[in-house]
Formats: sequence, structure tokens, C-alpha cells
Amino acid sequence: MKSEQIKNELIKYGDIIDAKGFSPGTSGNISVRYGDKIIITASGASNGDLAYEDLILIDFDGKVVEGKKKASSEKMLHVEFYKKRPDINAIIHVHPTFLSSFAAARKGLEEPVMAENVYYFGKIPLADYALPSSKELVEKTAEYFDKYNAVLMANHGFIVGDIDLEQAYLKLELAESYAQIVLNAKLLGGAILLSKKEVAQIEALKK
Ligand code: 13P
Ligand code: ZN
Repeated sequence: MKSEQIKNELIKYGDIIDAKGFSPGTSGNISVRYGDKIIITASGASNGDLAYEDLILIDFDGKVVEGKKKASSEKMLHVEFYKKRPDINAIIHVHPTFLSSFAAARKGLEEPVMAENVYYFGKIPLADYALPSSKELVEKTAEYFDKYNAVLMANHGFIVGDIDLEQAYLKLELAESYAQIVLNAKLLGGAILLSKKEVAQIEALKK
């Protein structure tokens, strides 16, 4: 894909993420792998209002290669995810309300509550708290990147990667709705968990 096409996709999904209310204010950042470089949103950009000048080309050291603005303050988190996972080509980091509620309560989404989520995510683990944009945040969150495509970040938000931006966005949508369902089920007396056998049957569907 040409860089112009990637930028148009970033603008499109930035709009969708904003319209869904997944990245309040200027929170969150989005990126796409581009050969041995990365195109990432500028720091402080609002996802719903992205222009070409807000899309910055960086290398795997986080250095700006093209663009006048500062790249996202979470650029090294994105770099680390791409480094660990050659299969991942797009990453979304956001602070959506329901997922962030779990992050605020320091609770992962680890129980087998909904079949679709078991199938797509297995678990969504919680990474320990570290200061946003810090090296420590990269280390603590990256611990999960080998095994998981989606991770909650304590008292901060959520990060998801996938083969392309569309898939990453769809997983974000699924995870946010899942967080809301888990919370709602608590109001109804608590979800009835899938059994080990039922989980194994769902996992077998992948083979
Ligand atoms: P940036 O605007 O620098 O991308 O930061 C937003 C954010 O979500 C920090 O964690
Ligand atoms: Zn953030």
C-alpha cells in the first residue's frame, strides 16, 4: 500500500474511532507499519480530526523521518509491539469508557464470558501501571505482546494490534462491547462462565 493510501485509512478509522466515542479529547494514537518504518498520529492530535500533517513517518528508533509535528508520545509502545510481532501491521491505543473502567479498577478481562471473545482474544490481560509515554510503560505492556493482541493498561487504557487497520478497529469495537457486557452482567447477578470443555470447543473452531 502507498503511504497516501495508508494515511487515508488512518484518517477514516480516526473518524470512526472518534464517532464511536472511543478516544475522548485528544487521547489515543493510531499507527500502521510501512515497510521498515511506521506512520503514526502526531502527539496531541484528535483522532476525529486528522489531516495529512498529523500523520508522521517514524523509524524503529522512534525518530521522525517525515512530518513537521511531534510523533505520538506513545510511539515506542507501538514500535515495541511491531518489533515483537511481525504479523501485526496496525495498532490502536485508546481510552474507551468501558475498557478503561476495567483498566481503572485494575481488572483484566480474563474470564470466559462470551464465546466470540474467547475465540478472538482468549483473555485480555491487564498490564501493570506505569506513567503514560514512559519506558516503563513500554516494558510492562510489551510483556504481553508475545501472546496477546489486546492488552489493558492499568489506570490508562487499551491497546490492540492486528493484521491491518480494519481488523484492529473491529477488535477494538468487539473488546469495548465485551467490557460493557461483562459490567452489565455483574448488575444482573454475574455472568455464568463457560466451562473448560466449552472453552476448548470454541478454541477448536480455529483449527
Ligand atoms: P499522544 O497524543 O501523544 O499520542 O498521547 C495520547 C495518549 O493516549 C497517551 O497515552
Ligand atoms: Zn493513552
